[in-house]
Amino acid sequence: MSFLNETHDPALQSWVTSANVPDNGFPIQNLPYGVFREKGGHHDFRVGVAIGDKVLDLAALALLSPWTGPAGEALQACDAQTLNKLMALSPEHWSALRLALSKALREGSDLQGKLEPLLHDRAAIEHNLPAQIGDYTDFYISVHHATAVGKQFRPDNPLLPNYKWVPIGYHGRASTIGVSGQAFPRPVGQTRPAEDGAAPGFGPSQRLDYELELGIFLGQGNQHGQRIDIREAESHVFGFCILNDWSARDLQAWEYQPLGPFLAKNFASTISPWVVTLEALAPFRQPFQRAAEDPQPLPYLTSDENREHGAFDVELEVLLTTEASRSQGAQPASLSRSNFRDAYWSAAQLVTHHSVNGCKLQPGDLLGTGTLSGPSQGEEGSLLEITGNGRNPIKLPWGEERTFLQDNDEVILRARCTKPGYPVISLGECAGTVLPAIPV
Ligand code: MN
Repeated sequence: MSFLNETHDPALQSWVTSANVPDNGFPIQNLPYGVFREKGGHHDFRVGVAIGDKVLDLAALALLSPWTGPAGEALQACDAQTLNKLMALSPEHWSALRLALSKALREGSDLQGKLEPLLHDRAAIEHNLPAQIGDYTDFYISVHHATAVGKQFRPDNPLLPNYKWVPIGYHGRASTIGVSGQAFPRPVGQTRPAEDGAAPGFGPSQRLDYELELGIFLGQGNQHGQRIDIREAESHVFGFCILNDWSARDLQAWEYQPLGPFLAKNFASTISPWVVTLEALAPFRQPFQRAAEDPQPLPYLTSDENREHGAFDVELEVLLTTEASRSQGAQPASLSRSNFRDAYWSAAQLVTHHSVNGCKLQPGDLLGTGTLSGPSQGEEGSLLEITGNGRNPIKLPWGEERTFLQDNDEVILRARCTKPGYPVISLGECAGTVLPAIPV
């Protein structure tokens, strides 16, 4: 089975010349969707597709009805303030729209004259969340992260016996998910008592952390009670974004037993504005493999398709700026790099597992992967891991140190796909800033 088609031809060039600049990240082979308006404008947010340093207004294009059939139906679903209507359609619709956009944006397209007035500079726009997110579930699919965190909380028993059998997750909160640029006050809450039996502490979190994750936006849903077969699972995935699952480790340590994360996680989560479709990521598929000594997944989480190409090679990076670094004009400090292909469960397995009990998934639902740490030093997806729960501070290039995040620190997550002979496919950037706590 080949996932590649003419939209993946690496030789394609666009009449939007910035899309042809090497490594710009938004070439005609990418075409990610988002929701935008002019910066500071009073118009409604609307659906657009990124191309080079521009965004094409798809809501405006829909009014011109340039296409019929599935591409035309998919374009009409873009005459909206969110991607939910487009997400609710089928992969055939998504694919038809991608092909139509690819042809319309290619050098020599007859539609160039009609499309040019619908382009906006990406530097002059602002974003809203790409979808109205009904439900948000965060998983825990990096065995490297699970082991490192387990060591902090349970040194003698880091990896619990269920880990290699069941994709672990918790239901998060959609109401505090914001788009890149989000700023939020440091969370306040209860922390573990200094000695057993004493009253817990209460105040602003002293161990505020980020988590480097990808977000999986669901497309078409399932009926309540109906399972999604692993072989069908990817047809329910619209695309990927970057996700920062901000985490207050001191609140987490006190509250997490016995029901898992609660207020330590749901004060803020930040996602990148662009959703890169599964089809755009096809050139970066990889076999999904388990170590031979590990248990193989149960049959309902197994398929030939998943084994052959269920993983994705997506490079991830965490960067940090602080009040001091910004005032000095210093470059952001790179804290770590990892890759989605090192995850223990695939996107298809997460969708199938989430619905195996009959749980209803809906277009625009967001699944977080969990912190994507790799197997090696320098691949930690959180400060908890980098600093050994605060024991080993990191030195920043401009002279400051950090164990956990300070007020006005800005965390920037980046993700991109690269391979020789193919244009770089960027997932963009997910930035967020910690503000001082609201006094208690
Ligand atoms: Mn997480």
